[in-house]
Amino acid sequence: MYLGAIEAGGTKFVCAVGDASGKILATERIATETPEITMEKVIKFFMNFKIEALGIATFGPVDLDPESGTYGTITSTPKQGWANYPLLKTMKKKLSLPVGITTDVNGAALGELYRGAGKGLNGCLYLTVGTGIGGGAISEGHVLQGMSHPEMGHILLRRHPNDQEFEGICPYHKDCLEGLASGPALQARWGKPARALPSDHSAWEIEADYLAQALMQYVLIVSPKRIILGGGVMKQAQLFPLIREKLRLYLNNYVAFPELNADIDAYVVPPALGDNAGITGALILAKQSLVK
Ligand code: ADP
Ligand code: ZN
Repeated sequence: MYLGAIEAGGTKFVCAVGDASGKILATERIATETPEITMEKVIKFFMNFKIEALGIATFGPVDLDPESGTYGTITSTPKQGWANYPLLKTMKKKLSLPVGITTDVNGAALGELYRGAGKGLNGCLYLTVGTGIGGGAISEGHVLQGMSHPEMGHILLRRHPNDQEFEGICPYHKDCLEGLASGPALQARWGKPARALPSDHSAWEIEADYLAQALMQYVLIVSPKRIILGGGVMKQAQLFPLIREKLRLYLNNYVAFPELNADIDAYVVPPALGDNAGITGALILAKQSLVK
């Protein structure tokens, strides 16, 4: 049985065909241009295979309320042509198949939970720290969902003592987590791309502080079984021990589980699937959409 998967991003759509075991048999990368141009190529790719269902992990914001008339529609993106684009409806109509849709980070959480760094658990939280910051959580096998999907990147934090001047770059909130700690925020604060900052630069201590504050709040509110930190900025591996240490200090044993103390190295972890987390999750979503 063949299943289809799309990881829809701001720069590219990764399309894949795989089987029910998660094995990927074919992939194609298609540039994100206007929906007309991109979606024609996406549909053409899937027409080459006899897939039985499709899963989509997409950039957002996207309407994920199944009761809504615009379920599966991209909502308020600045990306040219994509605001109000009915992604789910279009794919259902063109392929006449069951199609599941979720956010890119929910997709990555699903992929990591079932086939990556969360294997053996029934829940986890996945946070990407890249061009933007976003998180998805799975609890007891269910993707956390309310009015729509969570927006974990836009929470407010306490300022680091050595970071009082930088305004923050979030167009909505200025110094929310994304405004202070995303890749473009690092670039704006330090005047060079994040990847060009040496690993012993003071940037990373501040970065780890903000991420640890965020993780503290996720721990307190969602109580995730494991936290997986992905995205371009997290390629700075020195961040992991700093974040774990600061998370412990911030929690101060208020939640005194081994996961948050002696076993914290196994609690805050990098993705095991690397850049394939999202597409792997989309494939899982395709399979799940068959049984619904
Ligand atoms: P996106 O979020 O656009 O899907 P990424 O997760 O790759 O893509 O994030 C891109 C951001 O991550 C950019 O702001 C870039 O500067 C930053 N980045 C990429 N690689 C590194 C690295 N090795 N170290 C620090 N920052 C990086
Ligand atoms: Zn914000």
